[in-house]
Amino acid sequence: MTADVIVVGAGPAGAATAILLAEHGLSVRVVDRARFPRPKICGEYLSPEAPRLLDRLGALKPVDAVARPLAGMRITAPDGRVLVGTYRRIDSWQPYREHAMAIPREALDAILVDRVRALPVELGEQVRVTDVIVSGDRVVGVEAIDGDHRRLTLRAPLTIAADGRASVIAQRLGLRRAHRLQRMALVTYVEDVADLGRYGEIFVDPPDYAILNPIAPGRANLSVVVPMAHAVPWSARLDAFFDARVKQLHHLARRVAGARRAAPVRAMGPLAYVVDPPRAGGVLLVGDAAGFFDPFTGEGIFSGLRSAELAAETAVHALRRGDVSAQALAGYQRARRLAFADKERVTRALQFVIGHRALANLAARLLARRPRLLDVLLGVIGDFVPPRALLTGILGR
Ligand SMILES: Cc1cc2nc3c(=O)[nH]c(=O)nc-3n(C[C@H](O)[C@H](O)[C@H](O)COP(=O)(O)OP(=O)(O)OC[C@H]3O[C@@H](n4cnc5c(N)ncnc54)[C@H](O)[C@@H]3O)c2cc1C
Repeated sequence: MTADVIVVGAGPAGAATAILLAEHGLSVRVVDRARFPRPKICGEYLSPEAPRLLDRLGALKPVDAVARPLAGMRITAPDGRVLVGTYRRIDSWQPYREHAMAIPREALDAILVDRVRALPVELGEQVRVTDVIVSGDRVVGVEAIDGDHRRLTLRAPLTIAADGRASVIAQRLGLRRAHRLQRMALVTYVEDVADLGRYGEIFVDPPDYAILNPIAPGRANLSVVVPMAHAVPWSARLDAFFDARVKQLHHLARRVAGARRAAPVRAMGPLAYVVDPPRAGGVLLVGDAAGFFDPFTGEGIFSGLRSAELAAETAVHALRRGDVSAQALAGYQRARRLAFADKERVTRALQFVIGHRALANLAARLLARRPRLLDVLLGVIGDFVPPRALLTGILGR
């Protein structure tokens, strides 16, 4: 079968794109190098707007059965000041659900792949894409190797690169660049944590930060983000480095005293990288394949799903018109900018604040006096309040 679209990667961005394209009646072939369910290093937090997209994809019901609702975030500043913000309606901005969610990625990603399986989509697991096929100014397909080590050539008018942070497609097209923010995440699970409730917990302690995300009773995902240079010398002894680092983060250390690490520490870094838009036609990049900054604001999955929505809109129009040139696909980049640029500015500003002890303490003092502003900030981070609301919030409305 010759497909209209090849989707490379069946993580949240790829699965969502495949579902939306198949629902438009397009023939879709999805390949992933993994077999699902598969693990994924992640903080396992879903922002309160992600359920809107999951509902659209027919995946919210099974997600609800597994996920734990998070009413808000509890943030501990470097000086120990604790801020508690909730996800709630702000003026006319109503979140799809008045809570975020904690959900193991193995479960979330498998649910989305099950939705793909339920549709007339050809899904190839354990198929690793090794290269893109370019003809003139177009990507016309990919080379791959299947689970039996057979070489495959897959051709289609449109290729969706949803192959995550190590995207072979972005690399082969020469689009991926390093970012100057050099950080590494260390992720594990902890058990027997006292008083794990309905809040995610963030500990800001420059140059590090940590996030404790309660994914099951007594069990939490614990992610610690540190400067890359501090972690690299310890790469052979990550567990020891992680334990020592947690001890140095005094407020976190007190919080998890009595808890035990229940899984090996997994590391990922450098976290941030930049991906330029493709100059060739016949290809769209979604999710992490299109770039990543930092997990602090926990919007990666939401952004992946949202970028899938935007890519599917552009793809459907382009394929119907029979024009998949770079120019015909450029609307996707414009839509991405509109959807993400303001939020990216907020995310970068926040990175600056949490990277400086005095500034982080000052921000915490300000937010403690202005609880509404904290909820507005959570709404912006949670993707249901537009970033401009922060300006009116800060200026004192
Ligand atoms: C430490 C850390 C913590 C994070 N915490 C959060 C969080 O709490 N909440 C949140 O929303 N986001 C978080 N993120 C971001 C989030 O994990 C990503 O944004 C999200 O997974 C992107 O989805 P994706 O589908 O683009 O990529 P992925 O989920 O990475 O999926 C890519 C898929 O492509 C497949 N693939 C890769 N290469 C090939 C190939 N050559 N051939 C075939 N298949 C291939 C992979 O097997 C994989 O299934 C975190 C990121 C990091 C690094």
